[in-house]
Amino acid sequence: MDPIRAAVRIYDSARREVVPFEPLEPGQVRIYDCGPTVYDWQHIGNVYRYVVADVVRRTFEHLGYRVTQVMNVTDVGHIVEDLDQGDDKMELAARRERKDPQALAKTYTDRFMDDRRKLNILDPHVMPKATDHIPQMIALIGKLVDSGHAYVASDGVYFDVSTFAGYGQRLNREGIEAREAGARVAVNPNKRHPFDFALWRAAKPGDLQQWDSPWGRGNPGWHIECSAMSMHYLGETFDIHSGGEDHLFPHHECEIAQSEAATGKPFARYWMHVYFLMVEGEAMHKSIGNVYLLSDIEERGFDPLAFRLQSLGVGYRSHMDFTWRGLEDAQRRLEKWRSSVAGATLSVAAPAGVDPSDPIRQQFVAAITDDINTAAALAAAENAIKLTNSPERADQARGLGLLFDMDGILGLGLAEWAQRSTAIDDEVRALLAERDAARARGDYARSDELREDLRRRGYLVKDTKEGQRWERIPIKAGETDR
Ligand code: AMP
Ligand code: ZN
Repeated sequence: MDPIRAAVRIYDSARREVVPFEPLEPGQVRIYDCGPTVYDWQHIGNVYRYVVADVVRRTFEHLGYRVTQVMNVTDVGHIVEDLDQGDDKMELAARRERKDPQALAKTYTDRFMDDRRKLNILDPHVMPKATDHIPQMIALIGKLVDSGHAYVASDGVYFDVSTFAGYGQRLNREGIEAREAGARVAVNPNKRHPFDFALWRAAKPGDLQQWDSPWGRGNPGWHIECSAMSMHYLGETFDIHSGGEDHLFPHHECEIAQSEAATGKPFARYWMHVYFLMVEGEAMHKSIGNVYLLSDIEERGFDPLAFRLQSLGVGYRSHMDFTWRGLEDAQRRLEKWRSSVAGATLSVAAPAGVDPSDPIRQQFVAAITDDINTAAALAAAENAIKLTNSPERADQARGLGLLFDMDGILGLGLAEWAQRSTAIDDEVRALLAERDAARARGDYARSDELREDLRRRGYLVKDTKEGQRWERIPIKAGETDR
């Protein structure tokens, strides 16, 4: 795509409307995505949220921006239920699994990264771990204490929300009063105001993760981690901060209050929140038994990229309803696309270059720059697929060029697929040609024989309206490949 020709519009949760995106520094986009708490497997709702973050990053890169994408790893400080009295999720899991918290963090971070790569999610440019940034957090808390925005209590250091005008009202749609009623239930007597939140927690006896600080040994609060790491890597003011809709309050409101109180400058300039993935219309819940992992999808024989395609079919600002039926449809669609791409790749010398004024390309760019409207972008991709199925070679080449270009954002691996599936040896090519000829002269017995021969070699041949199509399949154990 042309560098930075297309203006991007995104929904900003603070302004509560779709607004033109203008980076702080021309040509550069700095993004902070709230990352996982690595105490357990990440479920499909979690990974879906990172598919969305990946599409956002790819969109800016594809438009020619230089992007710095930071995604943290929370390996301390995330408290169950977001209340300051709860237990640390890492601590609980380490005890449950009888592991050192850092070994636990490594296990689940590795699993998460494996899942991301299976979904073609690009690695963030920086992936800071909270436990590697304790000094930055202590420095930030020190600034808040010194300026009177935070106070020291017997069980830790708290942010005083009364010192920050409009606390909890930037993103929080429910309003602070509604939240206040709920928060009263568990008021900690060490807090001056129920909404004050812990920046630093005094260590409890036996805490597996604890550090020295000017306020005694302890561990950091989850909110301060994200402020410290985002500002450390991206500056006090940066472009985009993203999270799930659960972060609107309190996590991001706390980040805003403590960051802006400490620096006196605006913190993130655009806030993006991904709505939750539901399963068959319900929130995922252990008690319902509907908390699925990417491995469950694979075990049922689906390609992880079918899940990616399914995720792209909804806008990130509405709830994605995951259903197995929907995943089957996505898998079929992906296979159809792959076979169209493989077929066209075999038939043309090379994909055509993309004409910037090509209406299908313009349709795609208009969709993706309209608040990352992936569902509409898929409709444009579908138009390009139609071209690859045309009998005209010029159409096929144009379709391929468009698709490979779009796939820089969609991330379905179509170009790699085409390359892999066309890297066939001459023998297979000859068998395919012979089968085509056998069909043309009506010799179906021979054509079936050749189909079986090709299947044993790992090529599934199908006859379609557009002619013979094939795709690579795994070779079954016990069957000879040569
Ligand atoms: P956690 O590891 O619990 O901090 O969650 C990691 C990320 O996944 C956070 O950004 C959450 O907002 C997000 N998340 C959690 N559940 C869902 C869901 N069902 N759908 C989409 N995102 C989710
Ligand atoms: Zn965060």
